[in-house]
Amino acid sequence: MSVLDQTLYYFHKAADAMDLGEHIQEMMAEPHRIIVVQIPVEMENGVIEVFKGYRVQHNPARGPMKGGLRYHPTVDVEHCTSLANLMTWKTALLDIPYGGAKGGVNCDPTQMTEREMERVTRKFIANLEECIGPYKDIPAPDVNTNSQVMAWIMNEYSKINGFSPAVVTGKPLDLHGSEGREAATGRGVVFVTENFLHDYEISLKDTSVIVQGFGNVGSWAAKILFEAGAKILAISDVSGGIYCEEGLDIPTLLNTTHEGHLLSEVHGYDHISNEELLTLPCDLLIPAALGRAINKDNAADIQARFIVEAANSPVTPEADEILDKRGIPVLPDILANAGGVTVSYFEWTQNIQQFRWSEDDINMRLKLKMRKAYQTVRKVAKKYNVPLRTAAFIVSIGRVGKATVLSGI
Ligand code: NAD
Repeated sequence: MSVLDQTLYYFHKAADAMDLGEHIQEMMAEPHRIIVVQIPVEMENGVIEVFKGYRVQHNPARGPMKGGLRYHPTVDVEHCTSLANLMTWKTALLDIPYGGAKGGVNCDPTQMTEREMERVTRKFIANLEECIGPYKDIPAPDVNTNSQVMAWIMNEYSKINGFSPAVVTGKPLDLHGSEGREAATGRGVVFVTENFLHDYEISLKDTSVIVQGFGNVGSWAAKILFEAGAKILAISDVSGGIYCEEGLDIPTLLNTTHEGHLLSEVHGYDHISNEELLTLPCDLLIPAALGRAINKDNAADIQARFIVEAANSPVTPEADEILDKRGIPVLPDILANAGGVTVSYFEWTQNIQQFRWSEDDINMRLKLKMRKAYQTVRKVAKKYNVPLRTAAFIVSIGRVGKATVLSGI
């Protein structure tokens, strides 16, 4: 099953439970628009390389479209369509006034200099400029893109359209970014996990945690969980994982990785592979890297009590069914990692109105949004007697459907 089929499988499962007609399902599943651009760039060695950039705008029913930009060798139309689709359901679930989009560039940032990244970004945006905008489509960071990349995007778009901070979110604090945005996805993961565990009468401080992926999302989630008293047994990045039965010293590890070191270079802990890490016993397993980490080949070996999907699409449908049968609840991506787009929305509203909220304000608003979304999903899961993922899709499909009907199909 492809990554797009995977997202559509979850969509249709919920849509069937809602008795949505075939044509309505087709209309809601298909993307609104797919944009592919050529990005010719002169590299440092003088060679012209031609990259491909993508933006898939999935559904505009509830507002301008919103979603991250990923720079990775796996980026293509299919991946972007799958992730754009998820963004539609995620923004609807959090009840923020956006539709879904996703995009990126097929490239390998590990082989590129910062200047090459800047050139690729500027050319990408120059070619995409007509299709994005504060009331059209608002990009944000995703895998291998950060606040610096967002700053280049704002600058390139503003050269053509005038000062436009609201065209992109996840910008640096010194360039119209929002307090709390960098940590938002990881913080949101922790807020929603806290609510989820509360239903099992478990407190965060009594949990042991394993996090796959130590980038923006995984490292913030690990840091906030560590500060809440959880024991972080293992973490990993693309180079592999590290493990310690007594718990890892996350603040020190953050210093090391911020200096540019990979986890494979860290001393003093047991080194494990990403595959081993996923199947170690723990309370919470948090995949926070790429999609399909938990699949039919390893789902039967998972020893976690709960899975929290901090990454997008980390659990395949085959694995989801195995986990369901084994009684391992999964907190789905469109709920668990929605903190990022929620604070992106706060950033956008601050940019449009030219004011600033404090970090406490942002975190408090994020906490309320995540709690409300979790409670709504839990209620629907009970009503329909379905897993949390299906319930989350049911809520979102209902909201997008209502907006579509009210606007006139
Ligand atoms: P990032 O680039 O900051 O970090 C990715 C991390 O995953 C890095 O530590 C990298 O080394 C690691 N990684 C890459 N390939 C791996 C592999 N094969 N095995 C193990 N680890 C690997 O990206 P991010 O922004 O933290 O995004 C991580 C996930 O969270 C993605 O699925 C993304 O779509 C999702 N997400 C991100 C945001 C956000 O605000 N950044 C919001 C919602 C969802």
